[in-house]
Amino acid sequence: MRATLMYGAGDVRVEEIADPVLQQPTDAIVRVVRTCVCGSDLHPYHNVPAAEDGTQMGHEFLGVVEDLGPEVTGLKKGDLAVASFAFQDNTCDFCREGVQASCRHGGFFNTAQAEFVRVPQAAGTLVKLPVGEDSALLPSLLTLADVYGTGYHAAKRADVNPRTTVTVIGDGAVGLLAVLSARQLGAERIILMGRHKARTDLGREFGATDVVAERGEEGIARVRELTGGDGTHTVLEAVGYQEAYEQALGVVRAGGVISRVGVPQYDEGPIGWGMFGRNLTLTGGPAPVRAYIDQLLPDVLDGRVEPGKVFDRTVSLDEVPDGYRAMDRREALKVLVRP
Ligand SMILES: [Zn+2]
Repeated sequence: MRATLMYGAGDVRVEEIADPVLQQPTDAIVRVVRTCVCGSDLHPYHNVPAAEDGTQMGHEFLGVVEDLGPEVTGLKKGDLAVASFAFQDNTCDFCREGVQASCRHGGFFNTAQAEFVRVPQAAGTLVKLPVGEDSALLPSLLTLADVYGTGYHAAKRADVNPRTTVTVIGDGAVGLLAVLSARQLGAERIILMGRHKARTDLGREFGATDVVAERGEEGIARVRELTGGDGTHTVLEAVGYQEAYEQALGVVRAGGVISRVGVPQYDEGPIGWGMFGRNLTLTGGPAPVRAYIDQLLPDVLDGRVEPGKVFDRTVSLDEVPDGYRAMDRREALKVLVRP
């Protein structure tokens, strides 16, 4: 099959590799119908050391079940299903407690930008979709694999509700879908911090009431100005750089919550009086998107929300290297791949 491999920073190639096969009785093999490039794929794209052997890429996909191990329940060959970006049994104690990304039998996909994917723990990972391969809903359904569930996780961890004001930091796909999620959870005041007008316009469509294009101290001052000097009850941080975390500290209201879903590209940061003195809570982490698929699916199926609007470019599998380039140069918000 053809698959996407990264050989080093900026070096993405699509090559022929061996087809995946069933390895465990709980595995399935899925033929990928849609996959995509994630903002988090850009971190290795910037800094992974050059290597002799390429590493397979991709963690978001939906596709058709081609083969099943004998212990996979609830699915049959020919089913169209979406996977969560982390696989899990969805039955262990951590899964039952809603932290599927910490499943005792789980792990993370890194093979999705390909024609076929081996899915471990298929019964707990794949969610059957009641639509056909030609459905116009596929882009929105694909966001359930990661970016929508991740944005939703940011809002859930922060306990966004009708009484909380919200700042979302980041106008990438996750930030925009954090806006959509905050709106779904009832937030009436949602300030989106982002600089790219096409993206922040989509953020307004998703429910942002204010857009702040300034960053750093200027951005903090602007959000405080918009909130009577106090900041917002919750801050959903969907970037991952330390500057974004410091910005979150600057715009959160005393007693408030900073919820991070951007993968942190730093190990140290301010946790002293600036946080302690104002009774702040820091939360967030890899989203247990499997926990949210069932509740987010109905609104996607009936068109009440269209999270798939974050995709603004579609490429073939062979064009995936162009897709990385376009996202890296911010020419594309999120790139959909049709193998
Ligand atoms: Zn589990």
